[in-house]
Amino acid sequence: PIDSWQLGNHTWNFLHTMAANYPQNPSEETKQEMKSFISSFAKFYPCEPCAEDFREWIKTNAPKVENRNALSFWFCDAHNAVNDKLGKPTFDCKYWMARWKDGWED
Ligand code: FAD
Repeated sequence: PIDSWQLGNHTWNFLHTMAANYPQNPSEETKQEMKSFISSFAKFYPCEPCAEDFREWIKTNAPKVENRNALSFWFCDAHNAVNDKLGKPTFDCKYWMARWKDGWED
């Protein structure tokens, strides 16, 4: 069976790293493609209760695909919504670049 904990950890690694490498100045086509990716992801993520809540969250939090910083904050907010739901500490999104692009100092 799918281990939703491991799957989640690896998936967040992928999503945040993807956002941290999204263009600074995406073309209109790229923005559309990221929107499509997010909606496909929300359909196919193989933990149905997780995917269902994520789809609900997206309804009131439209994906921010304008540029790398906006997308990275958006995925950080999405992850914090899940952290909240699971009773985990939230992450201070201003550190997204240190965590997911540059790497921690230590
Ligand atoms: P994770 O939460 O996986 O985080 C990995 C690392 O990301 C952390 O070590 C931290 O350094 C960093 N991080 C933490 N918060 C943020 C943030 N806000 N922004 C950027 N970086 C951050 N599990 C459930 O049990 N129920 C669910 O409904 C559920 N829904 C999910 C929905 C989605 C879309 C995804 C991708 C996962 C979902 N999960 C769900 C899995 C859950 O979020 C965790 O991935 C899982 O519990 C493992 O947690 P973890 O402690 O390894 O850290």
